Amino acid sequence: MSTLFLPIDFDSVNYPEKLHLVARMAIKLGINRKVLLFVGKDLNEEELHYLMNCYDDLKEEAKRNRERNERRRLAGKLNQKVKKTARAYERLATIPLKEVFENMGKTLEIGYVRVSVKSKRYRCYHRKGVKCVKCGIEANYFAVERQVTQPTDKYHLNLYHLREDGKEVMMTVDHIIPKSRGGPDKVSNLQPMCSTCNGEKGNRTEEELENGVSHIEAQRRGEREKSEKSEKSEKSFLTPNTECDMV
Ligand SMILES: [Zn+2]
Repeated sequence: MSTLFLPIDFDSVNYPEKLHLVARMAIKLGINRKVLLFVGKDLNEEELHYLMNCYDDLKEEAKRNRERNERRRLAGKLNQKVKKTARAYERLATIPLKEVFENMGKTLEIGYVRVSVKSKRYRCYHRKGVKCVKCGIEANYFAVERQVTQPTDKYHLNLYHLREDGKEVMMTVDHIIPKSRGGPDKVSNLQPMCSTCNGEKGNRTEEELENGVSHIEAQRRGEREKSEKSEKSEKSFLTPNTECDMV
C-alpha cells in the first residue's frame, strides 16, 4: 500500500469512490499512467484494475472536453471574423468636423491616405449644417472609411452621430425633391438627414411624408411622372427638356 504520491487511505470499504478520487487527483496533478501503476502497486488486483479503469475513463473524458472547448474556441473566432467582415466600412481614423470644414475643396492627408473634400455631400454639410432636418440629431465627427465589400473603394469621409449608448448613426444627405421624382442632384436640393430618417423618407417628398403617402404610392407617382415627362418631351422634341435629372 503506497501513500507516497497520493495520501489516500485505501483501507476503506468504499474503495470505488476513493479510487475514483485518486484517479481524478492523479490526472489533476499530471501523474502519468506508469507512475499511477506504481502508486497502486500494493492494491489488490481488483482495486488496481478499478483504479486504472477510472484513470483511463477520466483521461478520455478530459480529452473530449479539451477537443470540445477547442472546437468552441474556433467557432467563436470564426463568428468574430464574420462579424468583422459583416461591418460595411473599414475605418482608418476619425476626424473632427472643424478639420474637414477648414479644408473644403482641398485634399486631406491622413497618414498615407489622401481624401478629397470636394463632393456635393461635404458641401451640403458645410453649407447646411450637420443636424438631421427631421429628428434633429447632430453629427459629432467624420470617419475615414472605405467599403469592406469593395476592396477597390477609395477612402472617403462618412459623417456620424454618436448616441449616448455608444452606437453610431450615419448621417446622409437627402434629396429634398427625390431624384426619382426629378429633383436635381445639386446642393440646393440636398439637406442633411440621419440614415434612420432618410430610410424612412425614402423616395417621398416632404409633403407626401407628412401626408402619410406610402413608399409604394410614391414610387408609382414617380413612374407616372416620368412617363408623362417623356411623353411631353417626345411631343416637344424641338425644344429640349431642361428639367432633366442629370443636371
Ligand atoms: Zn434623423
